[in-house]
Amino acid sequence: MSKRDYYEVLGVQRNASATEIKKSYRQLARKYHPDVSDAPNAEEKFKEINEAYEVLSDEEKRATYDRFGHAGVSGNAGFGGFSTAGRDPFEIFEEVFGGFGFGFGGGSRRSRTGPRRGSDLRYDLTLEFEEAIFGVDKEIEIPRQETCPHCNGNGAEPGTEPLRCPDCNGTGEVRRQAGFFINISTCPRCNGNGEIITTPCHRCNGKGKTLEYRRMNVKIPAGVDDGNQIRLAGEGEGGSRGGPPGNLYVVIRVKPHRHFRRVENTIHLELIINIAQAALGDEIEIPTLDGTKKHTIPAGIQTGDTITLRGLGVPKLRRDGSNAGRGDMVVTFQVRTPTNLTKQQRDLLLALGKTLDSEVVPQREKSFFDRVKDAFGM
Ligand SMILES: [Zn+2]
Ligand SMILES: [Zn+2]
Repeated sequence: MSKRDYYEVLGVQRNASATEIKKSYRQLARKYHPDVSDAPNAEEKFKEINEAYEVLSDEEKRATYDRFGHAGVSGNAGFGGFSTAGRDPFEIFEEVFGGFGFGFGGGSRRSRTGPRRGSDLRYDLTLEFEEAIFGVDKEIEIPRQETCPHCNGNGAEPGTEPLRCPDCNGTGEVRRQAGFFINISTCPRCNGNGEIITTPCHRCNGKGKTLEYRRMNVKIPAGVDDGNQIRLAGEGEGGSRGGPPGNLYVVIRVKPHRHFRRVENTIHLELIINIAQAALGDEIEIPTLDGTKKHTIPAGIQTGDTITLRGLGVPKLRRDGSNAGRGDMVVTFQVRTPTNLTKQQRDLLLALGKTLDSEVVPQREKSFFDRVKDAFGM
């Protein structure tokens, strides 16, 4: 099958601007996304659109394509094909966070002998705490089975035709009478493919796939959390016999932070202050995700008291990867009792102690531990 012209695929003029190309690509990608499109050839179309965009959205590749056509840009397929560098998957695929069931090794295999969708791949990506908060571009390398570019995945050397398997007559199944039962099993001669390859493709030895290490850039949006999943449509393993590729799921893992704790979009921090600061108030420096902030704390702080710093929490992530404002930061204070007193400190505290009410009373309000639990939503 000869390839269509990339400009034609995206429905743009040869002198189209990058913006026009992007716009047209987005419209087409939405229209033909296999998850939403009813068109019978949606997956093929989608693949074609993506391939065209991967070339035309890259200045260098586009220039090569303009000069040499398809031959100029497909020569690197053996090194993993096109990278998705610079492409922002969130703009296009409207990734869904959470709630995925992984169907690894699968996809729909309705037909044994027809086109097969490639397997989904999972990649666990560990992020630093701050990377998850503010977003980051990560380069990842994915080993994956790709459709052999030489035989286009059918396993036969180009120019030769596979034979219909004589044992199963092309059905891929054999039936054997065993007592009252008829056992149906996968045809051992053709492995259920229904066809026998007479001249295997020299590049993939007839497997139809080759293992490629593919580097790609993944744009991690601000506000992702541990366990979120980013789906990159069509970036899984290549399909067989012309089937579409599977998806790649990037599963986010976030390392804990030494000081900060995250509960959804709120950042929690515990700060230790001394009894003078607690009693008198003070101007203190509070470490935040955005650097140190000066803040005046009032007199009379008790252990477990909190203050809220608006807008210094986690960017709120929408399903489409954009952000909608930021959460807050909650600082919980712990008042430290001084130890290893000098003589002077001891005398001062003694003098102070004589002026204080020294009656010991049971706690009536919520205890410190309850308040900390409340603050952390435990
Ligand atoms: Zn091959
Ligand atoms: Zn067979």
